[in-house]
Amino acid sequence: MDLSSKLKILSDAAKYDASCASSGSTRSRKRGELGDASGVGICHSYTPDGRCISLLKILFTNYCIYDCLYCVNRVSSDVPRARFTPDEVVDLTIGFYKRNYIEGLFLSSGILRSPDYTAEMLLEVAKKLRISARFAGYIHLKAAPGTSQELLDQMSRWSDRISVNIELPTEKGLEKIAPAKSHRQVHTAMKDLAESILHRKDEARSDRKRASPSLTRFGARSQSTQMVVGATEASDRDILLKARYLYETFRLKRVYYTGFSPIPFSAPILPPKATPLLREHRLYQADWLQRFYGFQVEEFVYEKGEQLDLSVDPKVSWALHHLSFFPVDVNTASRERLLRVPGFGQRTVSRILQARRFTKLSFGDLKRMRVPLRRAQYFIQTGERNPFLRFLDQSSLGELLGQQKKEQLLLPLFGAKKEEKKQGLGERELSAAISGEF
Ligand code: SF4
Repeated sequence: MDLSSKLKILSDAAKYDASCASSGSTRSRKRGELGDASGVGICHSYTPDGRCISLLKILFTNYCIYDCLYCVNRVSSDVPRARFTPDEVVDLTIGFYKRNYIEGLFLSSGILRSPDYTAEMLLEVAKKLRISARFAGYIHLKAAPGTSQELLDQMSRWSDRISVNIELPTEKGLEKIAPAKSHRQVHTAMKDLAESILHRKDEARSDRKRASPSLTRFGARSQSTQMVVGATEASDRDILLKARYLYETFRLKRVYYTGFSPIPFSAPILPPKATPLLREHRLYQADWLQRFYGFQVEEFVYEKGEQLDLSVDPKVSWALHHLSFFPVDVNTASRERLLRVPGFGQRTVSRILQARRFTKLSFGDLKRMRVPLRRAQYFIQTGERNPFLRFLDQSSLGELLGQQKKEQLLLPLFGAKKEEKKQGLGERELSAAISGEF
């Protein structure tokens, strides 16, 4: 099989992994320009400093000895198979890099023979890139649960980011549809990676003090994971509680949620329909709120088995269930209280806190400061009478806010792109912009 056929198969097979914050791109080259992002396997990711970079996103192979029922590459799947050699991946990466198509590589793989054997293949690619090809660009490697600690440590040494997928939020779910994997294995791998990343950071810190920094300038600084949503009956509460456990226990940078999409000839125990994108979107919003806004998962999904409200975002949903918390006085409330106001994001709250040191803020002041008031106006008190507060104890408030949200959801990504260009937003701000309301 020639290289371009392999690339076609193995870049297509990699598209189901969302844990590199990827998105397909169709940007093509204009006359006189260098570089074209419309080729197969090119996606985008965000570096820790917020830069958006293009990545070559491929599988090393789509052969796999496991039989995860939700996966198109499982051993029992009847799909065309392909496998790169380490040198082919190195040549492709360097060739694409030189042609200005990409700035980095996202490399995952089906399981060949064993997790360790697969890890050795990926490691060979990363080492060849770093040492022989002197490639200093971004490398994200995907490790399989069950990989030995030593190999995980090596993978983290030669990459910039590393991830191992938790796949499903409950052990029961894994047993049912991915029986070769277990949470115990995934947790062990995450623990090993967390230690390795910490060690790497220490090494890099002490290395910077030396006259000639060695290869420790490479090395993963964080790990992430991915959960498939909607393949089992696990609720949003199960998913978010699992995510919290992973953030707290293994210091994960990010949990990615990927809606299940039906695959050809799938097992009858799997749902026949794809998970609605809106569910994925709400999970990202709730995830964000628990990490950066001081919310607890239990404040969105109170009871066992509960799902997030799809009609409004989790912050609005919380506000509608806690009307007695409002109005929040923008002139006296703490940062924590202000962050709970629908429509107020981290930056807005910082600006309010700074501005009110000099003056008692009115609605006019907030407008001049370009504070987004569309939703916040129903929940805040300023130095003057607020006519919107009359809606606060009315049942129509939910409908009013739900309607606003529907309008906003019509163009979420275009809006986010514009924002990103205008203000140079980082990963965190971009996600907030995409979710549209924090
Ligand atoms: S181990 Fe990965 S590639 Fe293999 S079947 Fe499971 S999800 Fe698919």
